[in-house]
Amino acid sequence: MSASRPIFLDYASTTPLDEEVLAAMMPYFTTYYGNASSKSHAFGWISEDAVEIARQEIASFIACIKEELVFTSGATESINLALRGITEPLAGLKNHIIAFADEHRAVLDTLYDLEKRGYQITLLPVDTNGQINISDLVDAITEQTLLISCMYANNETGVIHPVQKIGAIAKEKNKFFFCDATQAFGKIPINVQDDNIDMMAFSAHKIYGPKGVGALYIRRKDPRVMLTPQITGGSQERNLRSGTLNVAGIVGFGKAVARCKSNIITESERITELRMFLERTCKEYLNITIQGEHTDRLPNICNITLNDYEGSTLIPALCNKIAVSSGSACNSGNTSGSHVLKAMELTKEQMNKTFRISLGRMTTKEEIDLAIETIRLINNK
Ligand SMILES: *Cc1c(COP(=O)(O)O)cnc(C)c1O
Repeated sequence: MSASRPIFLDYASTTPLDEEVLAAMMPYFTTYYGNASSKSHAFGWISEDAVEIARQEIASFIACIKEELVFTSGATESINLALRGITEPLAGLKNHIIAFADEHRAVLDTLYDLEKRGYQITLLPVDTNGQINISDLVDAITEQTLLISCMYANNETGVIHPVQKIGAIAKEKNKFFFCDATQAFGKIPINVQDDNIDMMAFSAHKIYGPKGVGALYIRRKDPRVMLTPQITGGSQERNLRSGTLNVAGIVGFGKAVARCKSNIITESERITELRMFLERTCKEYLNITIQGEHTDRLPNICNITLNDYEGSTLIPALCNKIAVSSGSACNSGNTSGSHVLKAMELTKEQMNKTFRISLGRMTTKEEIDLAIETIRLINNK
C-alpha cells in the first residue's frame, strides 16, 4: 500500500463497499453459488429467493412493484436498455426525443447514436445555475415526441431537477419519461409514482454497494412501457436482459439499499452539515464560486471554482492530499472540459479552476478540516 493515500472526497464517482454489504454478499460466492435460473434444485431456489428479496427491498424504496425492476450491470447498461429499447418498437412512428444538456455521457452518447440512426434529438439548455427551464420543455414537445429524458440530479454540481413537474407534463402530454437517477438514488427519497417516472436507471456502486450491478425501473401500468431487449439469450429478467444473474452483486445491492433506507434522513443531514461547513469556511477565506449554489442540491456534492487560482494544474495539486474530481470521473479521458460546466457557460479558464468535491458515509469532520486547509494552501500558491 502506498504510504500516503489522499483522503477520498470523490464519492460521486464511486463509493467503498459498506462492511455490512460485503458480509451479506460473501455466502453467495462460496456457499450459495447456484444459478438463480436453475429451477430443478435447491441451489437454484436459494439464489432465486435471495434475488427476489433484494428486488423487493429495492422496489419498495422507490415505490414500485418488484416486477417493474430489471437487474443490469450498472446504470450505463440501464440507460442503454431504456433509450434504445423504447425507440425500437415505435421506429418509424414517433422519432423525437427531448433531453437536457447536463445529462451524463451515458445518456448523451446513446442519444447521439440514436440520432445517427434517424431519431431527432432536442437538447435543451441549463442556465448558469445548472437549472432547467420548464417552459422550454413544454415548447419543445411535438406530436412526434416519444420520450422526455431528464436526470434526477446532476453528478457534477449536485443540482436537483424538478422531476415531479416534468413527470406531470409528460403524463399530461402522453409522453414517456425517462430519468437517470444514478446520483440522487439513495441520497434523497425518490417515489416513481409521485414523480410519474416511466423508466429510471440507477446503480449499486454509488450507494456503497458493489460495482457492476444496476437496475432499470420499467413502469407496467398507466402506461405500460414495452421495451425491446438489447441483450438476448437465456430469457432472464422476463426476457428483458438475458444472462446469468449476478446473485452476490444483487444481494449486495439489496443490502446497500436497506442500509440507505434506514439512514437516509440522518445521513443526509449529517453530510449536508459537513458540506455547508466546507462551503461556508472556504467562502470566508477565499474568492470562490460554488456552482449551482442557490439551487436545490444533493447533500454530498459541491462544485467549487477558485476564482483567484493562478496555476495550471489544480487537480493534480489537490489530489496529493484530497482525491477530488475535475468534473465527472466517467469521462476523465476527455480533455475538452466538462460539458456540464460548459452548458452553465463557464469559460475554459474558469473550468480549469473548478473541481468537484463529494462527501459520503465515511467522511469525517477531520477530513473536511484537512480539505479546507489543502484548498487554502493551493489557492495561495
Ligand atoms: C455514475 C453515473 C452513471 C453511470 O453509472 P454506472 O453504474 O457506473 O454505469 C450514469 N449516470 C449518472 C448520473 C451517474 O452519476
